[in-house]
Order: sequence, then C-alpha cells, then structure tokens
Amino acid sequence: MRNSFVLHLTALPHGVVNGRLHNCFCFHFQWEEVSIMDEKNVPIRTYQVCNVLEPNQNNWLRTDWIPRSGAQRVYVEVKFTLRDCNSLPGVTGTCKETFNLYYHESNEDRESYIKESSFIKVDTVAADESFTQVDVGDRIMKLNTEVRDVKVTTRKGFYLAFQDVGACIALVSVRVFYKTCPLTIRNLATFPDTVTGADTSSLVEVRGSCVNQSEEREEPKMYCGADGEWLVPIGGCLCNPGYQEKSGTCKACSVGFYKAKSSDPGCSKCPPHSHSVRDGATVCDCHSGFFRADSDPPSMACTQPPSAPQQLISVVNETSVVLEWAPPRRLGGRSDTSYNYPRPGSGSGSHLCLPCGSDVLFSPGQTGLKTTRVVVSELRAHTHYTFIVHAHNGVSQASGAGAAQSVSVTLTTNQAAPSPVSFIQATDVTRHSLSLAWQQPDRPNGVILEYEVKFYEKDQRERSYRIMRTFSRSVDVTGLNPLTVYVFHVRARTAAGYGEFSAPFEFSTNSDPFPLIGEGVNSAFLLLSISGVGILLLISAAVFIISRRRSKYSKTKQDSEEEKHLNPGVKIYVDPFTYEDPDQAIHEFAKEIDVSSIHIERVIGMGEFGEVCSGRLRVQGKREIYVAIKSLKAGYSDKQRRDFLSEASIMGQFDHPNIIRLEGVVTRCKPLMIITEYMENGSLDAFLRKHDGQFTVIQLVGMLRGIASGMKYLSDMSYVHRDLAARNILVNSNLVCKVSDFGLSRVLEDDPEAAYTTRIPIRWTAPEAIAYRKFTTASDVWSYGIVMWEVVSYGERPYWDMNNQDVIKAMEEGYRLPAPMDCPVVLHQLMLDCWERERAERPTFSQILNMLDKLIRNPGTLRRVGSEVCVSVVPQVCMPEWSMCVWLQSIGLERYRDTLAAAGYTSLDSLLALTHQIKPMHGQHIP
Ligand code: AMP
Repeated sequence: MRNSFVLHLTALPHGVVNGRLHNCFCFHFQWEEVSIMDEKNVPIRTYQVCNVLEPNQNNWLRTDWIPRSGAQRVYVEVKFTLRDCNSLPGVTGTCKETFNLYYHESNEDRESYIKESSFIKVDTVAADESFTQVDVGDRIMKLNTEVRDVKVTTRKGFYLAFQDVGACIALVSVRVFYKTCPLTIRNLATFPDTVTGADTSSLVEVRGSCVNQSEEREEPKMYCGADGEWLVPIGGCLCNPGYQEKSGTCKACSVGFYKAKSSDPGCSKCPPHSHSVRDGATVCDCHSGFFRADSDPPSMACTQPPSAPQQLISVVNETSVVLEWAPPRRLGGRSDTSYNYPRPGSGSGSHLCLPCGSDVLFSPGQTGLKTTRVVVSELRAHTHYTFIVHAHNGVSQASGAGAAQSVSVTLTTNQAAPSPVSFIQATDVTRHSLSLAWQQPDRPNGVILEYEVKFYEKDQRERSYRIMRTFSRSVDVTGLNPLTVYVFHVRARTAAGYGEFSAPFEFSTNSDPFPLIGEGVNSAFLLLSISGVGILLLISAAVFIISRRRSKYSKTKQDSEEEKHLNPGVKIYVDPFTYEDPDQAIHEFAKEIDVSSIHIERVIGMGEFGEVCSGRLRVQGKREIYVAIKSLKAGYSDKQRRDFLSEASIMGQFDHPNIIRLEGVVTRCKPLMIITEYMENGSLDAFLRKHDGQFTVIQLVGMLRGIASGMKYLSDMSYVHRDLAARNILVNSNLVCKVSDFGLSRVLEDDPEAAYTTRIPIRWTAPEAIAYRKFTTASDVWSYGIVMWEVVSYGERPYWDMNNQDVIKAMEEGYRLPAPMDCPVVLHQLMLDCWERERAERPTFSQILNMLDKLIRNPGTLRRVGSEVCVSVVPQVCMPEWSMCVWLQSIGLERYRDTLAAAGYTSLDSLLALTHQIKPMHGQHIP
C-alpha cells in the first residue's frame, strides 16, 4: 500500500502548503507556472523552464515542507515532458536533456531560504528512450514518469527540489508517497497498518494482538517487507471456549452447541442427554435425571446411576458365603459400574441388625468391586446376615441415588464345628498320671458342650488309644505307664458336632524307682525277686497281648462310637406316621397359628390338596412377612387330612436355608392351612423356562449348590425325599433355591403294588426305586442328577417326549441323558455319576456339594463345554430326531445312524420297534 502526498501541479490550489512548488530560493527565477491542456484537453498547470540557448543554467524549483508522518523511505514520482535538444532549431551545446532531484530534511515547516548546498542530490533524472516530441501546436503531449526513493529518517519532514541545468522541461506532476503493510488479520491476530522500514531490504517485525474473544496460542508475529507485503506469519490466537473461528473472527457457539476448550477445533453439538440454552456455551447442561461426573469430559453424554444389581444369589458354606449377582439391568450409559458391600448386618433375628465385626473377610474386597462375585468368610456360625450389594458408577454420588441401586439378601450361616484347640499343657506329672489343660478354640462357633481327649503311647502310634470326655478345659489322666511318652489330642464339640483334633502334644510320665540288688541282700530273696520279675514279665506279656486284642476291638468299637459322634448335633428325622395320633406329631413339630394373623391375598398355584395362596402373616411381636398358604379343600377324608398335615410335620423338623421353612399350621379351624415362607419366583422348572438362557453358568451352579446343600441336610437327617425334581424346588427373589414338597415320601408304603403306578415320577427316579422300591439317599442322588439336567437345560423335560416305558427301557440299556446345550463337561460328568446303575457308585450329597464348591471356586473348570457332534455333523438327519441321534451316540451305535435313517428309522419309537423285530432272530445283533 502507498500513502502519498500528491504534488499535482495543476491540482494544487493556491495556499495549499504541502507539495506546493516554489521558485523562491533560486538564483534565477526561470521556472514558469504555465497552464496547458493535457491529452484529454483538460487544462493543467505545469512548471516549465526552457533556457536552452543560454549556458550555465541553474534553475531551482522546490516544494513546501512535507511531513514525514512516520515514513522512513519516501517515493517521489515525477511526471514531466522534455524536449529533445536535436528537435530545437539553432541550439548549441548548452542544451541539456536531464534535470536533478534533491531533498533536504528539516523539522522546520516554513524555511524561507534553504541554501543550495543544504540539498542532497537524489538522482539525475533523464527522460525515457521513447522521447516524446511535443507538438504544442497540436496540443499532443506524451509524459515521462520517473520514480525515485529516498530515505528520510532524521527530521520530522523534508523538502524536495528540482534543478534545471539547461533543459527544456515541463513538470506536470510530482507525487510523494511512502509504503505501508496494510492492517490485516492473520491466525486470529490483528496486525496494524505498518510503515515499511528505512532500507529496501529491511523487515519490520510486528506483534499482532488477538481478536476479540480469543487468546494467544503462541505470540503472533509477522514481518512487514519494504514493498508493503506481510511476510512470515508466526504464532497466532485461538477462539475462547464457547467461540469458534469464522472469517477471521471468533463467533459464539449457537444454542445446542458448545466448545469446552480454546484448543477444540470448533463448536460441537451437545452430547446426548444434554443441552445448551444460550449462545457461547462452554459446556452443555445435562437433562433432568442425567448427570456428569467430575471426571467426565464435556464431550461425554450425560449418564445415569445404575439400577440395582440383579439376581443376587448366595451360597452358604458353613461360615462363609459366596454371593453372586448379575450386573444391573440399566448401566446408565456408563461402563464404570462397581459394587460395594456396606458391611453386612447380623443378628439372631431379623429385627436385630448389628454391623459385622471387622474380622469378616471379603474376597476380592468390599468396595470398588469390578467382579460380580464375592466370597465372605469368617462369619459367625448359625447367624442371620443381611448383605447389601450396592451398584455404583461415576454419577451415583452426583445423582444422590441410594437404595435404588442396592439389592440385599438375608441368609443364615450354617452350623459349623469349632476350630481346633491350639495349645495343650501338662502339669502335675507323676509316674502314672498327669493333668492336662488347654485353651478354648479360637472360633468355638457355638456353645462348647464337651471336650474329647484322645491319647496313646507314642510307640503304639494310634494302634491303641484311649478317649476321655470332659466339660471343663482340663482333665486328670491316670493309669499311665511310668517313663513313657504319650501323645495327646483334644477336640471340642458344639451342637454342630466335633471340630478337628488339635495337633499332637507329647508328654512323658516320670520314672519308677528301681529295686536295688546288691550287698546285704540274700540269695533266696534274689531268687524270689528274679522269679517274681519273670512271673511279672509273663503276666505283662499276657496283658499286652490281651490288651492288643482288646485295643483292636476297642478301636473298632471306637470307630463306630466316633462315627456316631461325627455329627452329634444333627437330629434324625422322625416319621410322623410312627405317631399313633397324627395331631400329636403336628403339634410337636409345627406351631399353631391364629387364623386372624393371616391375610390371604391371591391364589398362586394348585396343590395336591387344594389351592395355594400368597398372603401376609403378622405374628405378635414380629414383623409382618410374606407367606404361602396351602389349604385343604373341603370334603376331605381322614386319610387326606393326615397326608396333608404330614407334610407340615415333616417340614417342621427341618431348619436349613435351602429347605422351605414352615411358619406354622392352622388346624383349629377350617380350612386347614399350612403356612410356609413365600418364594417369590415360584417353582424352579417354570422359573427357568421363563428365563431361558439368562443366567451365567456360575449362577446355575449356585442354584444347584443350594439344592445339594438342602439335600445333604435332609440326608444327614436320614430323610429320603423320593420326589426331588425342579418342579419341587422353589426359588425366592434372591434366586435361593429351597427344597419343598414333602408329600410323596409315604405314597409307596401305602401301596405296595404302586411301583409302576403313574404316581412314580419315572423320569426322575432311580432304576432300583422304580424296580423294587428301593428309595434311599442314593436314589435321591439319581433324582438330583436329573434336576441338574433340568437346571442346565433351563427347564427342558427330561427325555423330552419319550414315553415312560421307553425311558425305563433306555435306562436299562444304559442310555443316559446327553449334556444339555452349553453344559460344562464337568457338570455332565457329575450328572452321569449320579446316574450310576450301582447306587453305591453314586456320589453322596456331601461329595456333590464339595464338587460344586470346587467348581464355584474355580470357575475356569466350567468353561469346557461338550460339543454336540451328532447335531452338527448330520443336521438333516439329527435335527428332527435329536433324541434318537443322541441315543445312538450314547450307546455307541451312531455309526448305524445313516443306515437306520436310510431305512426310515429316524425316531426312537421306530428304533424300538426295530429292536422288537430283531429279537427273535437269534444271534443277530445290531452292533
Ligand atoms: P405344591 O402343592 O407344593 O406343589 O404347590 C403348588 C404350586 O404352588 C407350586 O408349584 C408353586 O407354584 C406354588 N407354591 C407352593 N408353595 C409356594 C411357596 N412357598 N411360595 C411360592 N409359591 C408356592
């Protein structure tokens, strides 16, 4: 850009100071102000001189004072005409074709006289090559334009002067200007109009200032070059939060948009569940009910706290509990859900809840859990606990949500035997006796009923030992041999049975004074003594042999005694049918409930004897609870009454978290009722069918574990269920499974011919129980295997649509149910073990429980899933008749599958028909 002072000679009116030309200081006032017409016939004023005929011309013309205005280098553009000397007739050597340009710097704006020598020459100016001929007569004039630049840095202004040395010249215009780099905006910084430097090569460094609503990213700089061009932009600015760049300015983000940081590239749309209501938002506000955690970036959607964890199940193992749950149904749009356990409350009744002691252990931890499983140990035995699992995420605190994110389970820990006695001390040691004393076990887990001391001579190892029992923590042990090392063990017993024996503690009796043989003792005495010793030895040998025999016997006896003491706290089930008066049994085992405390709400099912309803029970002094109410329909026989109430008499004897709890009975008015705890999720088979495929394997195993635990309890009480099936397991809201339905146990006794009646749940019953009514805990184990299959297959009917006869036959021929879909191999193996033909080969419930506990502890073992080869290899044959396909596979006949299929035998029924057909053909076998 150029800033200029125009000294257009014609355009300058009189009295204008700047740029006015003067003849004032010259020695020869030869320059004349002449008006002429330019090429467009516009009158212009020129300064002319044309003294070509006279020698030694020195004619000066100068301007007024020109203020510098900050310029350091000014440009002088001169327009002029010049006559060619040759074109002038009669001129001699005095004619010139150039003129000189001078300048003089000064602070004085009105210097009237400036010496010639004060002027500094800028240049000698010649006309162009295309020299213009001026034909004044035709008024045709061609102009020369010459520009010269000059550095003016020392004073406030300057004067210009033109020196004619004998040319014929007309100055038409003089324009003086300087150059600037114009105001500009680069990288959101404003750079002002800047005057170029003094030298043609100099760069002026300029610092920019950030435009409105922007901040410096890096100091903005540019260089103003000598020709007025901006060069080398460096640094720049960024729009403030809430603003974005638009055409070199920062504009506010519009409604619905935001910009959080100046470094963000531009305004962004508000993330989901948030909004901005004003221009220039730096963050979007969350919609009502949605939140942002402190650590959430503004670009993140607003989120919600999680809903409560789901399906909390608990598996109690003595004094530890495995708690497992499914993640909340709603995670609130976040992935940082964790779980906390506020310390569980405990108490001997649900109304009394105290925080647990700090000795309760949570593994892997109590807060910030990322897993959905925790093992709580070191709980007190036989105590009610309430565990609350609280789902938490980054916005839980902000939302203030609390109870809505929690789920709780109340359970009772099992009875547990006391821990071993850790220290035994011996005092008052003599040759034949000593006194033992010991400390109470660290964890008695109940009231200690007695201690048992077992001891034996160290040499004898445990081949022969003695047992002593005491109520105190000390005992005097007598009848010991002198100078003998004895080994002692002590164990404690509570209602839950004996704990482990302590580690061995060894103590030695003192020595016998030995009779002296020597001088002064006569030989007869010596002989007597020797023979006496011999006899003694003989007697000792005999006693030893006898005692060895006795001790072997006593060991056997002891074994049986010990066996009896294994679970001395566990009661034995009493068959209510052994009571002559059934009412006596019911009142011994069940509490009579006043019917006014029962509030029936709705019918929930149909039982064998009448409707099953749900309702509430409020017993004085206790909180109201939900109950299930079974009633005996009107018009019942004596036998029906007896059978109906027998279930309550049986149930009333049980007290276990996995056995349905009897609250009481109503027998004093009609209808007769049995009141039990209410199980929100009803029977297990229907529950599983409703939630097909929705549980983790661990959850399924947790359910199975609960059932096994209940069954172990029943078997420990010598109770045989006889009708163990998923339909007879009830499920509560915490997925705790409880064994119920104690009605079938007597049916067979009443009807000796009933082995093949329809009342036998054939698909669930062990072959020996079907064949000759051998119902035992082992046959319950068989049924348990079927329940396992039902659970893993989410309530599928065992043996699908096969009829009972076929099922019985298949069992006889060794067919066993195949692994359900996605069934871990270990679980199917456990089922197969339960279905051993020889009942002695089946596992006990205790072993099943151990096995399931192991699986729960090592969930990795549940990962291996058997593949259903048959289905995947020949789908067209196997899919429609899967059961037959699996049948063949299980009895090792799958290689005949295609042959049989080709022959039209694609169903189990048709295959069984084939078996019948080939029976008479002796010597022919399929395999
Ligand atoms: P039952 O006569 O015991 O087989 O009961 C018939 C049906 O009533 C069962 O299949 C359950 O659906 C329901 N039922 C029985 N007892 C309970 C209970 N304690 N809680 C909830 N539902 C129950």
